[in-house]
Amino acid sequence: TAGRDYAPIVAARIGAGLAADCVELAIDDGRLVAVRPVLGGKALSKVRFIGDDPAMVTVRSGSFPKAEVGVCDPEIETLDVKLATEDVRVSLVETSPKGTGGSRLDSAAIVVSGGRGLKEPAQFAIVEELADALGAAVGATRAVVDAGWRPHHEQIGQTGRTVSPRVYIAIGVSGAVQHNVGMQGSDYIVAINRDPDAPIFKIASFGIVGDLFEVVPALTAEVRNV
Ligand SMILES: Cc1cc2nc3c(=O)[nH]c(=O)nc-3n(C[C@H](O)[C@H](O)[C@H](O)COP(=O)(O)OP(=O)(O)OC[C@H]3O[C@@H](n4cnc5c(N)ncnc54)[C@H](O)[C@@H]3O)c2cc1C
Repeated sequence: TAGRDYAPIVAARIGAGLAADCVELAIDDGRLVAVRPVLGGKALSKVRFIGDDPAMVTVRSGSFPKAEVGVCDPEIETLDVKLATEDVRVSLVETSPKGTGGSRLDSAAIVVSGGRGLKEPAQFAIVEELADALGAAVGATRAVVDAGWRPHHEQIGQTGRTVSPRVYIAIGVSGAVQHNVGMQGSDYIVAINRDPDAPIFKIASFGIVGDLFEVVPALTAEVRNV
């Protein structure tokens, strides 16, 4: 995105430290601490800003809940910028369409995700039917993507997409940290899992402990009746 181009330039000009593509931010002992994926998303690194220089971060799309509109009233300064043609050193060479699956996930208000608890690829129809009834996008865990059940553009998590829909429904998903980092910015997380100790319940707003093969078709039927 443009932020990836501009942030390093601005940081260098104002002498700020920069942590890009952050998925978590916190203040610890008065210092800004940022968590960001490294090594192509294979690991998460915690970055602590030291010294008195300004600290700058950019955040990974979908990692944080959307800010409320109109809660602050910033002062807007209009700058009179005059650019000559030779000042613009970036030009658009070509645009090419990408697959639609990912972009649908990015903008969906509801995401229904399936994991290895579905047992086999054909059972993913249960997830698709609930998604269809809700007008939702379909997501998946890395376990099922690696198994070839689902395409990679549906993978949610550290090495997949980051989403923050209004509602995220996790079906047969254990809630590994690498998955959660891709969806924990959702407004509401609904987990359906037969294991009451599954980690997904620690971050779920609503949890259903039960067999997904009974719970999900019943839920889909209820949604279709509304
Ligand atoms: C470097 C690295 C990067 C990774 N990146 C990602 C990533 O981007 N995204 C990602 O998802 N993972 C990622 N992973 C993998 C992650 O650690 C987990 O292995 C993965 O998320 C587990 O997928 P799962 O929840 O589908 O499977 P499992 O962990 O096997 O969980 C299946 C769940 O289904 C439940 N279940 C089984 N049967 C039923 C039933 N009948 N009814 C209800 N529930 C049932 C079980 O109780 C269990 O909780 C990464 C791992 C590493 C090391």
